[in-house]
Amino acid sequence: MIQSLESTWLDAVGHQGFEIRESDGGGPRDALVMPDIATCDECLREVLDPDDRRYRYPFINCTNCGPRFSIIESLPYDREHTSMRRFAMGADCHREYHDPRDRRFHAQPNACPVCGPRLSCWNACGELVAERADALYAAVAAIRDGRIVAVKGLGGFHLMVDAGPEVAIVRLRERKHREEKPLAVMFPDVFDVRGVCQVSAMEERLLTSPERPIVLLSRVNAFSGRIAGSVEPGSAWLGSMLPYTPLPHLLMREIGQPIVATSGNLSDEPICIDEHEALERLAGIADVFLVRDRPIVRHVDDSVARIVAGRELVLRRSRSFASLPVPTSIPLPPALAVGGQMKNAVAVAVGTNAIISQHIGDLGTAQSTQAFERAIRDLERLYEWSPECVVADLHPDYRSTMDSRSRGLPVLSVQHHHAHVLACMAENEIDGPVLGVSWDGTGYGRDGTVWGGEFLLADGAQFTRFACLRPLQLIGGERAVREPRRTALALWHGLTGSIDGLDNLPIARAFTTSELALLRRMLDRGVNVPMTTSTGRLFDGVAALTGLCTHVSFEGQAAMMLESAVDPGVDGAYLCRLVSPARFAFSGWETPTWVADWGPMVQSIIEAVRGGEAPGAIAARFHAALADLIVAVAGRASRPNVVLSGGCFQNKHLAEAAIERLRAVGFRPYWHQRVPPDDGGLALGQLAFVAHAARGGGLRQAEVDEDAGGLATRGTQVLVEGGT
Ligand code: ZN
Ligand code: FE
Repeated sequence: MIQSLESTWLDAVGHQGFEIRESDGGGPRDALVMPDIATCDECLREVLDPDDRRYRYPFINCTNCGPRFSIIESLPYDREHTSMRRFAMGADCHREYHDPRDRRFHAQPNACPVCGPRLSCWNACGELVAERADALYAAVAAIRDGRIVAVKGLGGFHLMVDAGPEVAIVRLRERKHREEKPLAVMFPDVFDVRGVCQVSAMEERLLTSPERPIVLLSRVNAFSGRIAGSVEPGSAWLGSMLPYTPLPHLLMREIGQPIVATSGNLSDEPICIDEHEALERLAGIADVFLVRDRPIVRHVDDSVARIVAGRELVLRRSRSFASLPVPTSIPLPPALAVGGQMKNAVAVAVGTNAIISQHIGDLGTAQSTQAFERAIRDLERLYEWSPECVVADLHPDYRSTMDSRSRGLPVLSVQHHHAHVLACMAENEIDGPVLGVSWDGTGYGRDGTVWGGEFLLADGAQFTRFACLRPLQLIGGERAVREPRRTALALWHGLTGSIDGLDNLPIARAFTTSELALLRRMLDRGVNVPMTTSTGRLFDGVAALTGLCTHVSFEGQAAMMLESAVDPGVDGAYLCRLVSPARFAFSGWETPTWVADWGPMVQSIIEAVRGGEAPGAIAARFHAALADLIVAVAGRASRPNVVLSGGCFQNKHLAEAAIERLRAVGFRPYWHQRVPPDDGGLALGQLAFVAHAARGGGLRQAEVDEDAGGLATRGTQVLVEGGT
């Protein structure tokens, strides 16, 4: 049986002939945990057939489709080891299950209205309002009414609301404390998507694939009236998806309108999976609960993907993707990788496969820390596996790093941006040496400062900081991240040495006189103005200078707005020059070979804004400038392979411009596909680091080299023996 089919683009390795090799048996347990698969066409036909015994039964499935990862308690995959074990199959289901000619032969979650899970509808107090088909109609009526319905889905609760009326969306945002972050929309079918978005052939394939992720699509019809403007304010992209289990299929058929389907949680918390927990946690958010009595074994959010440079790029790796191993070309030592702080995912190594957990989220709350611990225990139990070492980010204060030190095992630390590059190399199955372009919002540098615009010469477990962005000031530290207007001020200050003379710029109106006086004092005295090389902040500052935003409510918002603003008809690029680090203060810093000075670019942007140029033209030239900068650094580094990683490469314009320009002058660009470029991919890079270190003869070597960066390593002999 084919368990999954996925296509990836790899380089030729240069084999001269063809041979059939023996498979090597033994080895660690690497049984596959099957992914959840979207409802197949045959099941969909049956569920809509009034003569079928599963007519309108929302839990129909067969061997070709249905829940797997979200119901498996342990391996091997038998009904007894799933959350379906509490449902004894009735005579008809039993017959199908044992008939080799039946499509439901050994379909573990096989069920029907007589013997399987049931749907119920509760009010906000948890009182039963309706059951079975009536429950579905009650939920449909509530959504039509503009009310918010919490729906127990495949891997967790969704909050669903009619996507049309502005007032319904505003209410959802207020209750969920999600002010501006785009909301995903579920459409009845692909024709409805075309009414709102541009859908290429590749995008349609992704939308209708068995994985059915949320796909970021370019919105073309902003005034169709079917989607309220507040669904994705400031974004040219709409996260769109199609129903992937029978329940949403049935709901969407009744409603016939696009609906917002967002995760059932309060901002930043993990998604709810239990109906009683949901009643508590979603109290005050949902008006109605549509629930079922089949438990969810582990939370699985919707995956998010987009098409970049002609192939798919996973931005959030969860439902249907998460259980699949990521093959690498290196033997991975038995390590547990705990990932980063934001968009956390953890990973374990089984043979040459990395098993990366589903998306866990930001480790800022007690709920998410519990989800993090659960995900680790879950991987250990499923694969009957225990780690011999732990690998974490170099940042001492990440929740995941602190956790790694409490496990009684040797701990290795990997610099954040190095891990990004290693993740991209591992998924592309390439070895060093490479030039790694590692651009994101923030990461702990080897010198203890905040990095984020890094060009690393990476080779196995080693790297050198070849170039970085010119540092800029974070005025007020963390507050600067929430207020791009502060970074605009920092860019201006960097150019002129003061904050005077901002007149005629929109940004000048973003501050009160007393605010400016306070920020001036901070800059003059150098109080709470740490420096950073972050590319994310550069995006913030440019977005604020062009008047696109002054404050943000979620990570990456300013970059998203700048990307959305790009006018594709505008040619040309601003100039960033490469200069010697001696021109800038690098005392106390790990000094790079080159510094990418954004000064001339910011000067041009300010002139363009003063000249009344449209933000779309400025955004286009800014993206082109960054792509040119990558090519310029690649030219100095002279390494044919250039790896693009870090959260900035979720940006389609940036990624595509960099790929195109690198190729045009003969470099080989590599970017992500199945693993997110942002911190969701860190765990893979951390595993790859351990593998490279062990293979090179050398964890001991890595240990010595990295000691200055705060590496705490004990008992590395275990790893050297295991890895060579
Ligand atoms: Zn099926
Ligand atoms: Fe990062």
